[in-house]
Amino acid sequence: PIYLDYSATTPVDPRVADAMIPFLREQFGNPASRSHAYGWSAEAAVEEARQNVANMVGADPREIIWTSGATESNNLALKGAAQFYKTKGKHIITVKTEHKSVLDTVRELERVGFDATYLEPQDNGLITVAQLEAALRPDTILVSVMLVNNEIGVVQPIEELAALCRSKGIIFHCDAAQAVGKVVIDLEKSKVDLMTFTAHKVYGPKGVGALYVRRKPRVRLEAQMHGGGHERGLRSGTLPTHQLVGMGEAFRLAKEEMESELVRIRALRDRLAKGLLEIEEVYINGDMDHRVPHNLNISFNYVEGESLIMAVKDIAVSSGSACTSASLEPSYVLRALGRSDELAHSSIRFTIGRFTTEEEIDFAVNLLKSKVGKLRELSPLWDM
Ligand code: PLP
Repeated sequence: PIYLDYSATTPVDPRVADAMIPFLREQFGNPASRSHAYGWSAEAAVEEARQNVANMVGADPREIIWTSGATESNNLALKGAAQFYKTKGKHIITVKTEHKSVLDTVRELERVGFDATYLEPQDNGLITVAQLEAALRPDTILVSVMLVNNEIGVVQPIEELAALCRSKGIIFHCDAAQAVGKVVIDLEKSKVDLMTFTAHKVYGPKGVGALYVRRKPRVRLEAQMHGGGHERGLRSGTLPTHQLVGMGEAFRLAKEEMESELVRIRALRDRLAKGLLEIEEVYINGDMDHRVPHNLNISFNYVEGESLIMAVKDIAVSSGSACTSASLEPSYVLRALGRSDELAHSSIRFTIGRFTTEEEIDFAVNLLKSKVGKLRELSPLWDM
């Protein structure tokens, strides 16, 4: 099938894979081995990768802590900050449309005695500064808002939100897993305190990520993984050199190619949107102006979600009905936007990436046009 699910994960760029191979073969040393050349060369590679990640986001390399991916970074940021600052207060604010790795972590913090507010986005998927301001309390210690939503691609106004938090002495965390290479991130100018990254959404390998931890003003965290004291004591464990080299190369390429890639992907997205909007009774989910061009999320009215997914098996996409998992729950993100169960179920997330072609877009449009038409002919609700 044609791959239009780049927000689930991306293929590893062949240039990234090439950069990783030597560290699986000859250069296998432990970067923490200080007494011989095997260790030194691994350490040099790890630090170059750290510099590449820092460069992509305007950070100091000393502010980058390696992790196993965005899930771990979110856990470290939220649990680590909540535990460190708990004597200042116990209130945490996040948003209903965050990724589960944020929502479930905040739930866990509630279980151990923290108090949480889950902001409800507007119908376009965005939250406002006024909304956050209204939810702040004297005991609020931590706010977590993602930069780019994984289901609908909307871009939250995190700079304004972070500035508000800074003015009140509240730690601001941002999950930027879906943002790298898609929107400009400049942490030097920003007031964000903690930011989550992962490699596998940016043409790097799975199982590796990073957490940005601001040094000025200094943000403190309780470690969640104890052991050899790696990563300034914040995250113990032998560093996976090849993975880190892969992430570094992926971020370096993303920085280099972002500008031209955005133009190309926007053109593909516009072509896809134009084609799909020729179908009657379709609804775009999420704001179209504050959105990355890689994402188009559309609900097809008067078709049943599961039949739709079965009918479009020749394209690899994600659906708003979690029919691959045990539950038949419609997407909680689309529900939070006020979509009905039916429209949430019959939605498709198309996500476009580095290797998508015009031919693939045209194939997807033609497939949807024909299949949606056929499904509606069978539907008792459709009488147009
Ligand atoms: N946060 C967001 C917004 C995501 O889209 C994902 C990807 O599934 C994650 C976190 C989890 O990332 P990882 O697979 O690196 O743990």
